[in-house]
Amino acid sequence: MLKLVYDERHRLHSDPLGTHPEGVWRVEKSLEELRNSPAWSYIELVKAVEPDYNAVLLVHDRVYVEWLISECAKGFHYIDPDTYVTQHTCDVAASFAATARVSALDTIRSRDPWFIMARPGGHHAGRRGPAMGAPTLGFCIFDYAAVAAKTLVDLGYKVMILDFDAHHGNGTQEIFWCESNVLHIDIHQRYIYPGTGWLSDVGGPGAEGSKINIPLYPGSNDNHYSWVLENVVERARELYKPDVVVVFAGFDAHKDDRLTNLQVSELTYALYGSYLRRLLSEGRVVGLVSILGGGYGQGMIKSFRAFIEGLVGVIEEPVITPKSPGKDIEEGLELVFNMLKELVLHRIRKDT
Ligand SMILES: [Zn+2]
Repeated sequence: MLKLVYDERHRLHSDPLGTHPEGVWRVEKSLEELRNSPAWSYIELVKAVEPDYNAVLLVHDRVYVEWLISECAKGFHYIDPDTYVTQHTCDVAASFAATARVSALDTIRSRDPWFIMARPGGHHAGRRGPAMGAPTLGFCIFDYAAVAAKTLVDLGYKVMILDFDAHHGNGTQEIFWCESNVLHIDIHQRYIYPGTGWLSDVGGPGAEGSKINIPLYPGSNDNHYSWVLENVVERARELYKPDVVVVFAGFDAHKDDRLTNLQVSELTYALYGSYLRRLLSEGRVVGLVSILGGGYGQGMIKSFRAFIEGLVGVIEEPVITPKSPGKDIEEGLELVFNMLKELVLHRIRKDT
């Protein structure tokens, strides 16, 4: 069974002006769509747990958390040009952060995959706020994927974070910059917010090669995503052999999305969902936690459904002809993979 976290409390984070693209409808309509899918009978609905700031403090500094709590106390307002809070935002986000920790602990015990329908977003929030020089928090408050990953790393697991949201997960990357037990693969569109995530961003001292960024060109499509799955994600996984996968599942690479310029269809999400299901069912990883990321057009609803259908195995795995996303990306990748090989070899030497 897929443990799907849906909790009405996400509605407490909403923009009374109704103008923000990251609206309540995203989760509500996605869930409604899923009820009509054959995947529904493979789903166990789970509520989020109560807010727990100790989970948040696993990855964020106290001063940042206290600042956000004081901002929320003022009620609805924008804390930067992209990001608003309401009176309840911190508690909503702390509830999903605590749920991310619970899911990480459960998935390694039960072997059940989890998907957390979290709002507001997470992956742009760094340790102390905007990360890697980004101008804003980009709709994000606390980094749930980082909480799940840190929970597992603290228990001695090796984690692969797969972030296929169309924006670079700069917050997550900053948090684990020097952590060699987190392999972070981030597939995103270049030239858009937050402007970070280049192939040369490979991780800090002792962790070089554990951060793999794929900055795709505008217009990249299903064929390119299929290539990346085979030649980056699976290749890196095979080399690094993570125990658990944490996915930041943004659906904003869809061609209908209002904020990006990629040309992906639901097929890519079905493919990625099917791939992840195989990893878990074939025992190549012992746990899988996915957390909702972006998606700001109607395409996200179909994409979310396709991903979940792939994840629970009610559709055929799509066959999509792979196509290189660009010679420059291929060349840059070879350098990163050489570093990753070194990192893995160094670990083997240390262990023996
Ligand atoms: Zn995004």
